Amino acid sequence: MSHIVVLGAGLGGLIMAYEMKAKIRRDDRLTVVNFGSSYSFVPSNPWVAVGWRQPGDITVDFGPVLKQQGIGLRVEGAKRVHPQDNRIELNDGSVVDYDYLIIATGPDLAFDEIPGLGPDGHTQSVCHTGHALQAKAAFDALVKKPGPVVIGAVQGASCFGPAYEFAFILDTALRNARVRDRVPMTFVTPEPYIGHLGLDGVGDTKGLIESAMRHRHIKWITNARTTRAEADKIVVEEVNDDGSLKATHELPQAFSMLLPAFRGVPAVHGIEGLTNPRGFITIDKHQRNPAFPNVFSVGVCVAIPPVGKNPLAVGVPKTGFMIESMVTATAENIAALLRGEEPRAVASWNAVCLADFGDDGIAFVAQPQIPPRNVNWASQGLWVHAAKIGFEKYFLRKIRQGKPETFYENLVLDMLGIKKLKEIHMEAAD
Ligand SMILES: Cc1cc2nc3c(=O)[nH]c(=O)nc-3n(C[C@H](O)[C@H](O)[C@H](O)COP(=O)(O)OP(=O)(O)OC[C@H]3O[C@@H](n4cnc5c(N)ncnc54)[C@H](O)[C@@H]3O)c2cc1C
Repeated sequence: MSHIVVLGAGLGGLIMAYEMKAKIRRDDRLTVVNFGSSYSFVPSNPWVAVGWRQPGDITVDFGPVLKQQGIGLRVEGAKRVHPQDNRIELNDGSVVDYDYLIIATGPDLAFDEIPGLGPDGHTQSVCHTGHALQAKAAFDALVKKPGPVVIGAVQGASCFGPAYEFAFILDTALRNARVRDRVPMTFVTPEPYIGHLGLDGVGDTKGLIESAMRHRHIKWITNARTTRAEADKIVVEEVNDDGSLKATHELPQAFSMLLPAFRGVPAVHGIEGLTNPRGFITIDKHQRNPAFPNVFSVGVCVAIPPVGKNPLAVGVPKTGFMIESMVTATAENIAALLRGEEPRAVASWNAVCLADFGDDGIAFVAQPQIPPRNVNWASQGLWVHAAKIGFEKYFLRKIRQGKPETFYENLVLDMLGIKKLKEIHMEAAD
């Protein structure tokens, strides 16, 4: 009998628990360790920030679901992982021992790396649903008293899709409120060009997103290093391709939303052999940590090297489909170990993303992540908005039902006619 523990119950951790449950033997035990038992669908946070969703619409109490599935739950949260002892120390001082651990803790948001950044400073965030609710109050104030807006991501960020998405959603919401004509908007990003997305572009994301921004009167600054946020302005340094300073911009703001850089959560950050210097979990192609082979990892907390060299740090996004492929590979690999076999499943990590604009949207598929690619496709249309709503409803229903099926595999890839994408391939054990 083995005890398998999933640490973190977000998008990756919950589907991990459901997929793992379907694969373990009768006497094996499965436990989820999380902060509380509430799941919020992060991709809908931009909608919360403009009042198109209430937090209750996108939040599920998964405690009863796990209980019904026979999955244990510890809600105290992990204080520290001790991989050399196969043990997790929880915040109440108790411990959880494991035979196999899957780390799915998502990101720690590094607001503290830039003075004034974040919801405790002078910029809004949509990374957590609570942040998005706070942003909604700031949005309401903006509608009452319109002024300049700055949206984007800071150096070291790895999640550019939601920054673009929020800029377009905000544009739509401000037009609906009939105040857009009094809101100059600027997008700032460390990406070397619009639509790079941490992937060196996908299809014509450069052309599509630039064109959409021109149509919607959103100006932009690329190669932008945000140096500080103040109550009435955001200061960014625009750099040349060699990293030298090109210009300093003081952008007036009445409202801003800047995605922060991510790093590993405190419970794992700095553990020798487990994490890289930013605190992300180092893994091999089987999602397995090389130093602690009974530890696996999925989701935003895994270490992925950047695509290409850029003047500023531009991370690689870890999107829902990529995370689902990591989850399936991990479930296969731990199941193999339980059977006494070697792990063989390799996740494709293909990037599939739906960026909603409220009244339009852009979708892209990158297979593999690093160019040149076999599939390098981007498209624009109202169908993306509908697909994103479908993603939300489908995913939340799966979480409520405790079902392991994956959304992209079953719905979006069919819709896009790219069912032939093979997200998992098995390789001979090396
Ligand atoms: C605003 C935003 C919008 C996005 N939109 C999309 C989208 O439209 N499509 C898409 O494909 N991707 C999107 N993504 C990217 C990605 O799909 C999400 O970030 C996703 O939530 C990542 O899943 P995860 O499981 O890695 O982390 P999370 O969902 O963040 O889950 C991590 C979990 O671990 C828990 N945890 C952390 N530390 C501990 C600890 N010490 N002890 C116990 N539990 C802990 C957290 O409480 C949380 O429950 C978006 C990301 C953001 C930030």
